[in-house]
Amino acid sequence: MSEKTIFQKIIDREIPAPLVYEDEFCVAFNDISPQAPIHVLIVPRKVIPRVGAAEQDDQATLGALLLAAGAVARKLGVDSREKGFRLAINNGVDAGETVPHLHVHLLAGRPLDWPPG
Ligand code: AMP
Repeated sequence: MSEKTIFQKIIDREIPAPLVYEDEFCVAFNDISPQAPIHVLIVPRKVIPRVGAAEQDDQATLGALLLAAGAVARKLGVDSREKGFRLAINNGVDAGETVPHLHVHLLAGRPLDWPPG
């Protein structure tokens, strides 16, 4: 069996990380190296390495990730049109993926440049 990802260890409560949100499919916690005043990671309990590795059976998990992101944004009060937030998924090394366990970055709390770097 392959070694657990750092996110799997957080989900299994082997590494402490206060949860901002959790449900049947996902957990969310603050990024350890925040790139904005609000930087939350939404992570499925199921280990899917990246979007490109998701399968048809993962449909419910993928939908739950976006619903969880919306719930986190509402909970943190950044879901208005004025404040806003950005969701990002880094798929592969060129895109900045460092943890091979699918996750959505939720960034907010400052104006965010477009296009991203
Ligand atoms: P990515 O580069 O898209 O794979 O995102 C991985 C993210 O995980 C990075 O933004 C890291 O700062 C974050 N990260 C790594 N270890 C931890 C940890 N123990 N707790 C919270 N965030 C972490």
